Amino acid sequence: MKLSKDNSSEQAPIPQPDRQSALLLVDPQNDFFPGGAMGMSEGNNLISAINAYIKHFSRQGWSILTTRDWHAPNHCSFTEQGGPHPTHCVQGSRGAQFHSDLVMPPGMMVISKGTDAKKDSKSGFEGSSLADRLEDLDVKTVFVLGPAIEMAVKNTVIDACKLGLQVIVLTDTIGDGQHEQSTAKQALDEMTTAGALCAVASDLALPAS
Ligand code: ZN
Repeated sequence: MKLSKDNSSEQAPIPQPDRQSALLLVDPQNDFFPGGAMGMSEGNNLISAINAYIKHFSRQGWSILTTRDWHAPNHCSFTEQGGPHPTHCVQGSRGAQFHSDLVMPPGMMVISKGTDAKKDSKSGFEGSSLADRLEDLDVKTVFVLGPAIEMAVKNTVIDACKLGLQVIVLTDTIGDGQHEQSTAKQALDEMTTAGALCAVASDLALPAS
């Protein structure tokens, strides 16, 4: 799915990434892609778009981080435990692995979340070391992408805005989160209301791959 940038005419210019920028992948795990426990209906075509961003940031030597949902088998968010979600992203399971077509750079920083069976992490910042890692790297701007737009991506973007980071959502890499496009649009609206900007590859002058 490609979300159009309806508000592009009102939007501020997209800042170009630099040494104080990071690419932040939010839960690019099998369970959130088609065929996964919480997978969207379409999304594998997003992989090449995601890989292009990874390549671009990697070549420039800019920071790349990824979060991962990393649950104990009895995690509180699972329906068996009375939670709202099917069992997903159990530590060490295939569903918790990064999508095999993603070309992850060596040494990429991996931030686990949702590791406490009694607590869920709706955002990459909740109960994780993400904020500290970004501060250590002196990151001021995050470019965010991931398959689950209405859940982890949205909540991570909103939290990043609250922390005072400049946030750019890469809309050509986000999935529909199992729902209709209208709910994805609503998620995007919530992110822009929180202060995030939206961009696509052409806004960042990515070289043709
Ligand atoms: Zn989860």
